[in-house]
Amino acid sequence: MVSRTTTTVVALWRLALFLLPHFVVALDSVDGAVAAKPCRSASVDADAGCLSWRVMVEANNARGWRTVPAPCVAYVRSYMTRGQYGRDLTSVMDQVSAYVDTVEADDDGLDAWILDIDDTCLSNLLYYEAKQFGAYDPSAFKMWATKGACPGIPAVFELFATLQAKGFKVFLLSGRDQETLGTCTLENLESEGFLGYERLIMRSPEYRRQSSSQFKSVMRKRLVEEEGYRIRGNVGDQWSDLQGDYVGDRVFKIPNPMYYVP
Ligand SMILES: [Mg+2]
Repeated sequence: MVSRTTTTVVALWRLALFLLPHFVVALDSVDGAVAAKPCRSASVDADAGCLSWRVMVEANNARGWRTVPAPCVAYVRSYMTRGQYGRDLTSVMDQVSAYVDTVEADDDGLDAWILDIDDTCLSNLLYYEAKQFGAYDPSAFKMWATKGACPGIPAVFELFATLQAKGFKVFLLSGRDQETLGTCTLENLESEGFLGYERLIMRSPEYRRQSSSQFKSVMRKRLVEEEGYRIRGNVGDQWSDLQGDYVGDRVFKIPNPMYYVP
């Protein structure tokens, strides 16, 4: 049986926890009214501006940007590392799952899905965090990718497994350079459990000068026109994964305010 003293102590703790935020706000308004308020509203304004920028990025209204705007670096770091990115990713994957539930793979084995690799199957968040979400640095990124240590993104792995279980052919389509990053990419995918997919398609030397959008369009066109696949869904973190020719019946954009690939 719980004693009366224990009940009282618990009640007092609850009351203290409830009052604490009010107490902090009250202190702000008494002691820090002049100094703290402008600082806080400036931060709110900056976040609101950066939220608008991020929405523009995700809606593909902002294009060709080379780096996160300096005033939004802290915002992007917070977005990516403090939970909102994960919540947004989960929301996207919920939509994908709802769609997957409505489609079936035919017995002919030609119903396919396309998944991008970087920041779709595998995460580069650790790299961009270490680089302070700054300007794109191709040689540093290549060194990072060569390590083959990109963590798998669990929600996308779940989709990957579901698609295979339903009989879809999963193609992993990446703009990564095949010659220099082929082996480490294969090993990275394997170490993160991405096994049993139909094919890994990477950028061979003749496509090095093409944009990601052009290269991926050509690869999808081949799958459809030459091999007879039907692309039922396409998932990527860049609009260049999801636009162009033969994009598929549905496309799903995973959030990524860290960089832009044309
Ligand atoms: Mg990507």
